[in-house]
Amino acid sequence: MQTIENAIAGRRLISTSTRTSPVFNPATGEQIAILPLSTLDEINDAVAAAKRAFPAWANTPPMKRARVMFKFKELLDRFAGDLAREISREHGKVHDDALGEVARGIDCVDFACGIPHLLKGEFSRNVGPSIDSYSDRQPLGVVAGITPFNFPAMVPMWMYPIAIACGNTFILKPSERDPSAPLLAWNLFMEAGLPEGVLNVVHGDKEAVDAILDHPDIKAVSFVGSTPIAEYVYQRGTRAGKRVQALGGAKNHMIVMPDADMDQVADALMGAGYGSAGERCMAVSVAVPVGEATGDALIAALKPRVESLKIGPATDPDAEMGPVVSKAHRDKIVGYIDSGVEAGAELVVDGRGFSLQGYEGGYYVGGTLFDHVKPEMKIYREEIFGPVLSVVRAGSFQDAVDLIHGHEYANGTAIFTRDGDAAREFADKIEVGMVGINVPIPVPVAYHSFGGWKRSLFGDHSIYGPEGVHFYTRLKTVTQRWPAGIRAGAEFNFPSLK
Ligand code: NAD
Repeated sequence: MQTIENAIAGRRLISTSTRTSPVFNPATGEQIAILPLSTLDEINDAVAAAKRAFPAWANTPPMKRARVMFKFKELLDRFAGDLAREISREHGKVHDDALGEVARGIDCVDFACGIPHLLKGEFSRNVGPSIDSYSDRQPLGVVAGITPFNFPAMVPMWMYPIAIACGNTFILKPSERDPSAPLLAWNLFMEAGLPEGVLNVVHGDKEAVDAILDHPDIKAVSFVGSTPIAEYVYQRGTRAGKRVQALGGAKNHMIVMPDADMDQVADALMGAGYGSAGERCMAVSVAVPVGEATGDALIAALKPRVESLKIGPATDPDAEMGPVVSKAHRDKIVGYIDSGVEAGAELVVDGRGFSLQGYEGGYYVGGTLFDHVKPEMKIYREEIFGPVLSVVRAGSFQDAVDLIHGHEYANGTAIFTRDGDAAREFADKIEVGMVGINVPIPVPVAYHSFGGWKRSLFGDHSIYGPEGVHFYTRLKTVTQRWPAGIRAGAEFNFPSLK
């Protein structure tokens, strides 16, 4: 059986750890690899390699760093299909969805190719007599990224391309469940000419994460994952003096106004609720129709669509949705569906007990639809992260907005309407980080930045795009007087223009 390697100081090597974690193919349930969970020494080796590589890389002209990025992008384009197959094999998402993930990751590399322009500072001439001032953004040093299972290629690419383009060196700790795609991307980056030690990949669990959070030579940590771990990472990392951005979980609501086109709404909800088996932090998991008639029309449009979802392994080109990532996760989702039924929600389509001939060992859950979900129910309050859509009916637009404001998460949200007034008010007032208007999954493009509010993000920076450049650099402002021979005399007052 394959043993997954680390990538440290330009070499791929098998960890010496005795602690391991199995990697499964969720479509079949068979174990396909063993993942050693790195030792403390291996984490230290990776940080030491990154620290050694930092001075030369930080000193490499941004244009030269950009050239490595361009080459990396070319290779990613060429091997996108291979990356997508690695993703599907360990994550379970269908091939086209995996290709979409890779494409959105490549967008971030594309953005990082513009680094010479992005790092351009500001210059002010003659701020005082013969005095000029300029500001500049400089890299931090060794930085780290800790990533979740649901986007094994894209989420790491939210982090390391821009961090590295800025001149930092990087330690990536991917999810234990699908570690192969980030390693394949590492190979491509090395082939593109990245110097050894600039990007290092170490696998592991909490022990590796804690070692990263406590390591004195790591200056900043980007985390994406569930909210309890995001909060933990933020607190422990900042306590150790690091800059931390920690993106957490979500419960994304979509308001459906009475004037919305119901077929458009139902199609949008199918993709946003069930695509990638609901395992997206921007999945819509709550639909909020305004008015009883809207609710009835929505359920009538959704029910047949959910019942006819094509579920299958990624190797089936007709499959619209694959399995969920693990047996434990499937059982947890089924537990949520049980709890919804017990709490009195109306189960319109039941995905429990779904089984696929020839793939009986796979971790499948059928598309599930609940109506008349109430805000106090566990299926509403908690993130399920599966193919389960809850309909919470609201009496008015204001009730729908209040519902969203009452939730602890505030990652993404959407409204479907033809009413410009309602849409504009929603965009202005809603306390959520990413908003869609007739767009169900408003994931910002690579040259904007991604981030939720409230308990969906801990820290002061969103991720990638211009916010990424700010997160991975620090500002220096230089004030200089030339010619050097000017005698200003001793000034005891605070310097000011007289
Ligand atoms: P997770 O929190 O279980 O794991 C994320 C990372 O944290 C992994 O690398 C894992 O090894 C590590 N980790 C797990 N337990 C830990 C512990 N006790 N101490 C230290 N580190 C630990 O998340 P997941 O199940 O891999 O991913 C799904 C979650 O990620 C969902 O909640 C989803 O909403 C969230 N997510 C959020 C975004 C976003 O942008 N806000 C994007 C993608 C996923």
